[in-house]
Order: sequence, then structure tokens, then C-alpha cells
Amino acid sequence: MTLKGLIDCHTHTHFSPDSAEAPEKMIEKAISLELSAYAVTDHCECNRWYSIEHYGAVENGYDTYNFDKDYERTVSYITKMKEKYDGRINLICGVELGQATHDYEVADTVAKDNRLDFIIGSMHQLKNNDDFAFIKYENYTYEGIMSLVEEYYEELYKLCCWGKFDILGHITYTLRYIEGNAGIKVDMSRYEEIIRECFKKLINNGTGIEINTSGLRQRYGRPFPDKELLSVYKELGGEILSLGSDAHKAEDLGKGISQCAEMAREAGFKYLTYYKNRKAQFIKI
Ligand SMILES: [Zn+2]
Ligand SMILES: [Zn+2]
Repeated sequence: MTLKGLIDCHTHTHFSPDSAEAPEKMIEKAISLELSAYAVTDHCECNRWYSIEHYGAVENGYDTYNFDKDYERTVSYITKMKEKYDGRINLICGVELGQATHDYEVADTVAKDNRLDFIIGSMHQLKNNDDFAFIKYENYTYEGIMSLVEEYYEELYKLCCWGKFDILGHITYTLRYIEGNAGIKVDMSRYEEIIRECFKKLINNGTGIEINTSGLRQRYGRPFPDKELLSVYKELGGEILSLGSDAHKAEDLGKGISQCAEMAREAGFKYLTYYKNRKAQFIKI
């Protein structure tokens, strides 16, 4: 399958603390790839919406707070870019909303913003712990790590119950770090039941999941989720499926998208979904 005509609905620009790329550079790249739809989804971490003073001194891998300002910057800028690039690309103003369950008030404020076309609901960390990117796994026993993953899915289930997003982000996020970086194999069969419950909630809410292709170009080497879990979602009646590279720079935009579209087709999906003005739009694959 060729990349032309497909979608990339999970990307970051310099409005995210972990990206230095100008939005224009990302947009121009998306135009050159001839995507049907392209979404900017900068980070908005609900548990770091206010300044550090609000939370007190929190030891954390991130020293970035004030996501209220980052959020406003990205949404107002990308809204302007939609006008500027009108007719040249189907540009989607989105957000990757992290940890909604840690501050429902903040999450509700963002979810009500009618400038947003699209919301990815993500979970990057547990309460009272670091982002999974920064946890020092060598300080944990194997069972300790498995408990962290279990807590992750419990929190993800809560996020699905809140449900005011369109697509659940990278459902196997923890594997990027635990398997990919720390090289510790996670027994995913332990979590199949709760993942099924998450899928059922999403399906009932009329929302969906993404295949996040970033794992393919990272040490982990597979997408989030891989074909096995994607098939579970399909068997349960899941239809809404987005694709995103999670690119933080223009050169990664679109990477893995055609491969994962092919994987989706093999798993029985006939359409990809993107969101415009918070409404699902479908693309045949
Ligand atoms: Zn993420
Ligand atoms: Zn992301």
C-alpha cells in the first residue's frame, strides 16, 4: 500500500517539550507526502497544566509544567495554519491529552474547546510515579514491573470510562520502555482481560484506537499495538482505527503508516478513521 492518500494523525511540533520542529516544516512534509489528512497533536499533560508552584516540588523526569500555556500556543497557532494552508492540505488541529484521570477539571476544559478537531487520550505515567520513559526499571523486581503495567491498565480503563476523547493513544505504551529500552519481556497475557474491557468501553462510547507506528523505528521494533491486540479489538467489534507516526520531527512523518495500514487491512479493517471538528471521517483501505 502506498502512503499517498493515507493519514498521519499523531504528530508533534515545537509546541511539545520533546520536539524542536516548526509546525510549517511538518505541514510542508505532510503536503509532500500527499496525505488525505494530517493532524498536529501536541502534548497537553493534565497533571502538569499549572506551574510547578501549584504542585509543590515534585521530583520528576520532566521539568516542564505550565501545559496550559503550551496548549494555548499550539491550538491557536495550528488554527491559524488551517487557514493559511487551506486547499493545500487537510490539516487537523488536535491534541494528545495526557493523564486526563489525574485532573478531570483540566481534562474537561480541554475536551470542551471547540477549536479542536481531534483528541487523543493518552496515559504516560501513573500518579506518584514518573513517566514510563523515566522509570529506572533496574530498581524493580520483575513482579514489581508487572504491577506497574497492571496499574497502567487500571488507569487506562478509568480513562476509557471518562471517555471524552476520540482515539485512545498507544495502548501498549509501556512496552516502548520496558521491552524496547530495558529489554524486559512483559507477559501481556496477564492484561488481556482488562485490555478487552478497555476495548469494550471504547466501542460503546463510539471511540477508537490508533496504531502508533513509532515502535517500528525504535528499539522495540513493533507498532503500538501489534497485530495480535489489533485482532482482539476487531473481534470485539472495533471499527474505529486511526494511524499515527508520533513523529517529533519532519523526517519521521508518515513513517510506518503504509505498513500499518496494510496490517490493519490484514486484520480485517476496511476503513481508517480521522476526525474533523470532532466527527469521524472514513478512508477506505
Ligand atoms: Zn504519547
Ligand atoms: Zn505523542
